[in-house]
Amino acid sequence: MKRKYIKPAGLLMAVCIAVTGLAGCGKEKVATRTDFALDTVITIAAYGQSDEGILKEPFNRIRELDGKLNAFSEDSEISKINAAAGLEPVAVSEDTFNAVKKGLEYSEKTGGAFDITIGPLVDLWKIEAPGEGVVPEQSDIDAARALVDYRKVVLDEAAHSVFLKDPGMKINLGAIAKGYIGDAVKSVLQSEGVERAIINLGGNVVLLGGKSNREPFTVSLENPEDPLSNGSISDASTLGVLRERDNSIVTSGDYERYFIGPDGKRYHHILDPKTGYPAESGLHQVTVITDVSADADALSTSFFVMGLDQAMAYIGETEGVEAVFVTTDNRIVATKGMEDAFIFDEQNYGNQYTLEFTEP
Ligand code: ADP
Ligand code: MG
Repeated sequence: MKRKYIKPAGLLMAVCIAVTGLAGCGKEKVATRTDFALDTVITIAAYGQSDEGILKEPFNRIRELDGKLNAFSEDSEISKINAAAGLEPVAVSEDTFNAVKKGLEYSEKTGGAFDITIGPLVDLWKIEAPGEGVVPEQSDIDAARALVDYRKVVLDEAAHSVFLKDPGMKINLGAIAKGYIGDAVKSVLQSEGVERAIINLGGNVVLLGGKSNREPFTVSLENPEDPLSNGSISDASTLGVLRERDNSIVTSGDYERYFIGPDGKRYHHILDPKTGYPAESGLHQVTVITDVSADADALSTSFFVMGLDQAMAYIGETEGVEAVFVTTDNRIVATKGMEDAFIFDEQNYGNQYTLEFTEP
């Protein structure tokens, strides 16, 4: 299977939309289209709209951006930057330049817990789906790790070019591309006059407005111990719901793409650039809620690598970011700002998890 930056089909929906009631919502018209793209299932639901034709342009935009940002397709702009590593800068489109720039900002802000030059490690581990993959040789991990360094990415604003200083370096935007694309889709919908919509890129959710002026949208939070296995949303095992409007909700977890090693350990797809191994920070799942989806996407991956304490400290210093963490010792820790927005399913999960709201 050709790998892209998105989790493969069959492992989608870190978060899924609770559609219960959608079918029965009576008068409200909702134009909905579901397609397979970005190696995942994409659903866009435009509320108050009856013409599905308005969803054509958003899906075109998804494919256009996938063609530019996907490190696994040879003719993407990211692949061209990677092929010219150590040789020369590559001039790219505004989209690619902005996505790389945003990724670089987060690499800096997180001191490299998030690193867009993670490509050599991603290629080495080849973590695709449960059951696939082997633990690489330590010498190979060391060699790949030596090529990961966001400080060696040179951006030229005037020329719109990106240069990787060392040969062998590789950008991989897997941890931020879906977020960037979600924001772009939201802009297309807005330019078409859509005021309320749910954009679900395989679990990266972007909300435009709310269900109505009074009612927020409802987004289900997947149970990391019992994640959806077939992409269907009706059999969701969910820890609770998030009641949100105008925000993006993005989840990262160690159960999305992984293999079990001969040592019985779970080797998953979120890598710690410092060790070269899957991050072991005591977290099982991280959900970030903020208005820009590229930010939510970058932060969910960053927080997963950083661990709970560092992530909370980061949130404490940042405006407008909320989060819900699930730890490996079965605690759900949410930021204080989520007290009204996160409704825990106490009845079904009160025995398995403890819930606390914390001031970051
Ligand atoms: P998903 O793509 O499954 O929704 P994430 O947004 O957390 O999950 O992104 C994980 C992907 O990001 C990996 O598959 C890999 O391509 C890339 N990646 C892994 N570790 C890092 C890291 N520390 N920094 C930046 N990107 C990473
Ligand atoms: Mg991410």
